Amino acid sequence: MCENIAKFVHVSSVARVPFQELHEECGVVGFYNTDNAASNAFLALQALQHRGQQGCGIAAVLPDGSIGLHKGAGLVKDVFTAEDLKALGGTSCIGHVRYPTTDVGGQENIQPFLFVRKENPFALAHNGNIVNAARAKDYLEKRGHLFHSTSDSETFAYLVGSAQHGDNWEAAINHATRLLDGAYATVILTKDKLFACRDKYGFRPLSLGSLGDGYVVASETCALETVGARFIRDIEPGELICIDESGVHSSRIAQDCSHCMCAMEYIYFARPDSIIEGCGVHGFRKQSGRLLQKEHPADADLVTCVPESSMSAAMGYAEASGLPLEMGLIKNIYVARTFIQPTQSMRDVGVKMKLTPVKSIVKGKRVVVIDDSIVRGTTSRIIVRMLREAGATQVHMRIASPPYAWPCYYGIDTGSKEQLLAAGRSLEEIREYIGADSLEYLSVEALYQASGRSELCTACFDGNYPTDLYQEM
Ligand code: AMP
Ligand code: SF4
Repeated sequence: MCENIAKFVHVSSVARVPFQELHEECGVVGFYNTDNAASNAFLALQALQHRGQQGCGIAAVLPDGSIGLHKGAGLVKDVFTAEDLKALGGTSCIGHVRYPTTDVGGQENIQPFLFVRKENPFALAHNGNIVNAARAKDYLEKRGHLFHSTSDSETFAYLVGSAQHGDNWEAAINHATRLLDGAYATVILTKDKLFACRDKYGFRPLSLGSLGDGYVVASETCALETVGARFIRDIEPGELICIDESGVHSSRIAQDCSHCMCAMEYIYFARPDSIIEGCGVHGFRKQSGRLLQKEHPADADLVTCVPESSMSAAMGYAEASGLPLEMGLIKNIYVARTFIQPTQSMRDVGVKMKLTPVKSIVKGKRVVVIDDSIVRGTTSRIIVRMLREAGATQVHMRIASPPYAWPCYYGIDTGSKEQLLAAGRSLEEIREYIGADSLEYLSVEALYQASGRSELCTACFDGNYPTDLYQEM
């Protein structure tokens, strides 16, 4: 069977799969041999809450060697009670937060996934998007295998489980990762081991830390900080680590690796206090703001951010321009995120409820607005209109990333190409749509410069996808 799957997944062709079904944007954590593992996972998942608010879960090794699971829809603080965490008592666990996406499926997609087997139960949680998972799943379904969810993580887990016998976990994980292509930062918990691996392109971050006599892995270093863990190192692209009673063991799941870290992690997704592969997110954003100002100065009276994600870039822009950084817009933090809403009119209302211009600051002023990105253009268009209504005499939009013109297939759900404002439109057409007096974007070169890296995934800006997309007929 393995050979057949391999042939199918890599070579044969199937009907085109709409990419919306594949998206997962998430955060993962893993604890091995630490006190209060589930309670610490609860804290670490809250530190990663920005990576996913739709649902969350924790799977933990229980004192009898079985694996317990608690998961549900909603924020981490609402899904777990003190009793739930107590019931997950033990020293090793994994956890997951899931982003609201446009894909099909709901509660059944919340992770971790638990596979209860007599001798070898295991749980798996993953962040990213496997570009050929639909093919593998289609193949397996046609041969009678049943899946509970639409998540590619379940396909990953199925492939691990189907190849696992006795104690050959590394071989089983190797088997699955050889067949699957795309973006994944994955944690797998067995009754006596914790595994963590990253795809060979290195799209999604995953860090290793120590806590007491044990270990912690997390999507972002901010989660390590929260639980008081000491950062050890990033897990490398194409690396599998196995943590057991004798320590941390590293092996390769791929040889031909690259360092295509998702540029949007730095630009928007990650928390500013995280450090991803040696580059601090706040520092990156501030520097991108400075470079944006050098590339595209604006004749204006003040700079404002779109709270909070563009705050660091706005600081850099203001510093480089000598203009004051003002609170031209305030954010209602109690309004749910608006980005992914089913209809455009709901998105419009959502932005208006979330952001309000501060009249006393912008009235009679030429305002430079720094945002981290324009995707569909909803936010920018409404902000420009609201600022004008509040009395701003000019609104100059400066975007701390290049035009977002290509869909992401690696786990950042930004819609199809038709929904992306910059796809097939000139700068002038985009400016006209959002109604700004001027509009400029950061260059791809400046993006690299701000990160100090020589490799990044920038596919949503330039269409250079690091993997095959497995969409041909
Ligand atoms: P839009 O309104 O569709 O142009 O989206 C752009 C706004 O959404 C910006 O203010 C970004 O901060 C934010 N944003 C960018 N990428 C994402 C994403 N993947 N998920 C949620 N929000 C995003
Ligand atoms: Fe990130 Fe864009 Fe690459 Fe997707 S396509 S992984 S959003 S840089």
